[in-house]
This record gives sequence, C-alpha cells and structure tokens, in this order.
Amino acid sequence: MAGHKTLDDLFAAIDLKGVRVLIRADLNVPMLDGAVSDATRLERVAPTLTELAGRGAKVIVLSHFGRPKGKPDTKYSLRPVAEALATFIGGKIAFGEDCIGDAAARAVEALAPGDILVLENTRFHAGEENNDPDFAAALAENGNVYVNDAFSCAHRAHGSTEGITHFLPSYAGRAMEAELRALDAALGNPQRPVVAIVGGAKVSTKIALLGNLVKKVDALVIGGGMANTFLAAQGKKVGKSLCEPDLLDTARHILANARAANCDIVLPTDVVVAAEFKAGAAARTVSVDDVPDDMMILDVGPDTLKHLAGRFETAKTVVWNGPLGAFEVPPFDRGTVEAARIVAMRSKQGELVSVAGGGDTVAALNEAGAADDFTYVSAAGGAFLEWMEGVELPGVAALARK
Ligand code: AMP
Repeated sequence: MAGHKTLDDLFAAIDLKGVRVLIRADLNVPMLDGAVSDATRLERVAPTLTELAGRGAKVIVLSHFGRPKGKPDTKYSLRPVAEALATFIGGKIAFGEDCIGDAAARAVEALAPGDILVLENTRFHAGEENNDPDFAAALAENGNVYVNDAFSCAHRAHGSTEGITHFLPSYAGRAMEAELRALDAALGNPQRPVVAIVGGAKVSTKIALLGNLVKKVDALVIGGGMANTFLAAQGKKVGKSLCEPDLLDTARHILANARAANCDIVLPTDVVVAAEFKAGAAARTVSVDDVPDDMMILDVGPDTLKHLAGRFETAKTVVWNGPLGAFEVPPFDRGTVEAARIVAMRSKQGELVSVAGGGDTVAALNEAGAADDFTYVSAAGGAFLEWMEGVELPGVAALARK
C-alpha cells in the first residue's frame, strides 16, 4: 500500500507496551431506541483495537457521533456506543467525559497497558469540524502515536482525521489498510477489463462519479432511475419514469467522453415497467423503444441481465455503486439481485475482484444475499463516493504525507 504506514510498520518501529495510541474510529453507528442497530462499523474497527491492546498499548479511541453542532449534547454522547463496543469485543472499555482537556487527561492517566478507552464525541468541540490546529494539538496531547482506522470519515479534513496528523506519527489501522487495498485493486491498479456498475435514483448526484469512471474503466453499466435520463438523451421515450430533463446535455456529454476514452457505456435494452410504484404492481417487460406513455421504468429486463452476465463472464474487476432498479419494492428488485448474485458467484470462484459501496448498495447486496461473497464491501458512504469521483481524501492524503 504505497505511501501509507501500517500497523506492521508501527510494530517494527517501537515496542508498544505502555505507549498511548490514539485511534480515529468511526463509531457513528445507527441507533434505534438507545441500542446499536447495525454493528458493522464496530465489527470493522474491533481487530485494530484488540491487536493494539494485545501488544500492551494504551488504546484511546476518538470518534464523532451524529451532528451535535460543536457543543456538548447528551443526545449525541458516545457512552452507549462505547458500551456496545465493549460487549462486541468481549472486554472492558473505559469512557472519558471529554476528548480533550482535564477530563480526557484523567481518563488516559488511569489506563494500564492493554486497556481501551473511548473518549467523548469529538464534535462536541467546534474545532473538530473547523480543523482548528489548537483543537488538533489538544487531541494529540493524549497520545504518542495516531492510527486512523476510519476510511468512512476520511473525506473530511477535520481535527481528528487530518489536523492531528501534523502533531503525531500517523499510521493506517487494519480496516483502513484493507479498504485502501481493496480500492486500489478496484480502480487504482485493477486487473482489466474493469466493469463499473452505477445505478441509483438520479444522475444529478453522480455526475462527477460518472465523469471519473469513464476515464478509468473499460465498461460502465448505467442502471436504475439514472439510466432513464441517458435513454431520454438518446431520444427514447421514457413515459412517467423518473427522469431529469435538464440533464440531457450532461448525459450526452458523458456519453461523448466515454466514446473518446474507449469506455463502453452499457444501457438497458429492455426494462420492467409498471403504472405505479408499489409492491406487487402489475409489471411487464418491454424494449426500451416501447415504453408506454403511462408507465414508468422500475428495473432492467432479462435481455439486459443476459448481456450483463456476459460482461461479468470476461470482467476481471467489478466496481459497484447503486441499485439497477427500485430494489426495495418487489418485483423491481430482480435485476439488482440477479446481477449481484452473478458477481458474487464469480468472485467466490476467484474469477474476478468485486468492490461495492455507497449508501443503498450495501443494503441491496445484503438483500441479494451476495455481500459476503463480494471481494470487498465498503461500509463508507460519502467517502466511497468521493473516492469513486477520483477526489483526494484528506484523511488518506494526510497518512501518506507522514
Ligand atoms: P441512490 O441513493 O442514488 O443510490 O439511489 C437509490 C434509490 O434509487 C433506491 O431507493 C431505488 O429505489 C431508486 N431507484 C433505482 N431505480 C429506480 C427507478 N428505475 N425508478 C425510480 N427509482 C429508482
């Protein structure tokens, strides 16, 4: 992993017994009725915490939680998340009432080698989101070494993701290392041909992403509601479908850039349509040349899926963001589920490398029962999308600098 020091580099450099290691985790987990409702992010950071604690480090965890607007707000306290983390790793975890100042210093002082401490929400201070150097320095006072294990927060230049790296030797944790390795295998130095699948509701949220992908991949499959805008840009009638008429020129521009870059754009050739968007609605399959005026496109059709299966047959790398149809409502989940299962199966057989991420994508792959067999599924939302856009992530760049 070029440019980033990992925990192996840290272990080679110093004996960690008694050393205070500050770890930026992403403990911003979804909660329901005061309990963690999805522990994926805890699961991802746990190996780094236990590995460092196992080496006798004093492990001090930093994270934001929610949007408390730069001042303390008990609604956004990390205390219940720290308790869930303790249950998750099956050990004791101490809690510090603040992430800087006397309260933090006292909590750190009380640690023995191998102990783990979670400090209170970094966003209880305005200096976190402003990336105030004084705040970053105050955070850094509690550690000898900094480890960033929160790729999902790396698209923000905040005190605990970027500022702090100016004060401490900085390393990538295990989850960060795995994420960067997977992303590099997908778009950095991928095995070709690379097929990208971009679906979801709207072109407007993914213009930069599409613009970057056409320069990097061999084929770009466009599905979901956003495909309708591309079909309309080619003069097809899309009936009542979700469509962004003001983006027809943008779509044409992307198509022209793809041609210039030798990237095949793959649009649906047949689609599943219905008069209304509800579960079990009467649906039928039509060619993209025959979408009725009073119907809407809600999924890709079987011919399109057959074509995609052929693409996956020869692809060596698949990068996926966004569902191919309105997957939350059956039968419009079929395109996404079937395509995901083929990619999962070929990944499991070692035939291709598959990397997926961003918002609804993970939910769609879970629904298809495909997520476990993908090579890598990112738990990051915004950071994954910005990476797909080709944007340099400040939290990652800061690690490369150190
Ligand atoms: P995004 O957050 O941009 O990835 O969009 C995900 C959303 O796109 C999901 O809620 C899907 O239901 C929706 N979606 C996908 N295909 C369609 C379609 N053909 N028409 C309307 N919505 C769609």
